Amino acid sequence: MSKKLLLKDAHIEGIRYFETYRKQGGYTAAEKALKMTPDEILEEVKVSGLRGRGGAGFPTGMKWSFLAKPEGVPRHLVVNADESEPGTFKDRYLMEFLPHLLIEGMLISSYCLGSNVSYIYIRGEYSWIPDILEEAIEEAKAAGFLGKNILGTGFDLEIYVQRGGGAYICGEETALLESLEGKRGNPRLKPPFPAVKGLWERPTVVNNVESIAAVVPIIDITGAEYAKIGVGRSTGTKLISACGNINKPGVYEIDMTITVEEFIYSDEYCGGIKDGKRLKACIPGGSSVPIVPANLLLKTVNGEPRYMNYESLADGGFATGTMMGSGGFIVLDEDQCIVDHTMTLARFYNHESCGQCTPCREGTGWMYKILKKIEKGEGKMEDIDLLWDIQRKIEGNTICPLGDAAAWPVAAAIRHFRDEFEWHIKNPELSQTQNYGIAHY
Ligand code: SF4
Repeated sequence: MSKKLLLKDAHIEGIRYFETYRKQGGYTAAEKALKMTPDEILEEVKVSGLRGRGGAGFPTGMKWSFLAKPEGVPRHLVVNADESEPGTFKDRYLMEFLPHLLIEGMLISSYCLGSNVSYIYIRGEYSWIPDILEEAIEEAKAAGFLGKNILGTGFDLEIYVQRGGGAYICGEETALLESLEGKRGNPRLKPPFPAVKGLWERPTVVNNVESIAAVVPIIDITGAEYAKIGVGRSTGTKLISACGNINKPGVYEIDMTITVEEFIYSDEYCGGIKDGKRLKACIPGGSSVPIVPANLLLKTVNGEPRYMNYESLADGGFATGTMMGSGGFIVLDEDQCIVDHTMTLARFYNHESCGQCTPCREGTGWMYKILKKIEKGEGKMEDIDLLWDIQRKIEGNTICPLGDAAAWPVAAAIRHFRDEFEWHIKNPELSQTQNYGIAHY
């Protein structure tokens, strides 16, 4: 059984409200932190080995240490709650059921970073959650954990919730900042990085909801104890939102020492493939990371079990591995069509491209058109190479990572499932009514 740090109280009735959260020991980590210096908190976060839970996996303590501190210039913490990656819904769960965990994490983090005004930028489609967060903010304020002179320490903090307009690209940190400033959510060229020039050109740290919530147990049990959970550079626990053809979709907290096989088949987690079908493939970290066929998902190329952590999932690089990404675990059974699936993702990225850079704006459209053609049974063999060529020209040639996110699923689908693309082209009459099946994998 995995150790629970974030969701340990999620089952308790009324945990959404301050009184119950407090009774369960809520805000004791904040009380402890406010007696520490900001540098001591930063050290704990560094020692914990916490890596950003939004997708990139960058060490949080290191990110915080980059924050510029020019004299007299306000600094900000912005929580990225624009959770729009297909297959990812773990931050929604945290905010909906444990809003005070996020508020407490923000209090500790804002104190450490020197932010007196912090923001939660939340995905517009999560329309019912801002009310939950705002109610929690009011409760925390009434109890003296937000507002002026918190707990008599002289530290002031206001937290504001800003609703996004429904664009996937606003999950990219600089697009998010543009949107928060009231502008169109176009990603900015970097450098300068937000740590130097972020919100209103002020030094800003942008962190994912789960990363900030994880600061609470880190202070609670200490960074050193947190680092003992997990393995290698995958320390602590990780939330995984599991969906697709499984018996038990949902949000799970894992300690990153379990194997992928255990996660899919154990009753504690996904409970196996629905209707007793066979596993065909999986996208373990949200739609942007490479799809992996079952044989490479359960074992690495060296025959080692593949584990649910940053290093093991990436074992073999993009050729045979994938990424932990945002923890959006999408499972595909033997009946799923890879070409259709890849086309759906290509349509999504084409729709969500902001259009600033040519490779992304034009390339995503072309990939979608070609995939649609193949899926309809109207493709030619040379289309597969053309698709490969287009994704190569997008990757690494754009302002923001959406370009890469659009290219990688196409590259991985062709790399691992080329036969299936060819079958669609060779069997136009069967292309839309039958699937290639699983026997070949
Ligand atoms: Fe916009 Fe795509 Fe360029 Fe990102 S990669 S800035 S989404 S056009």
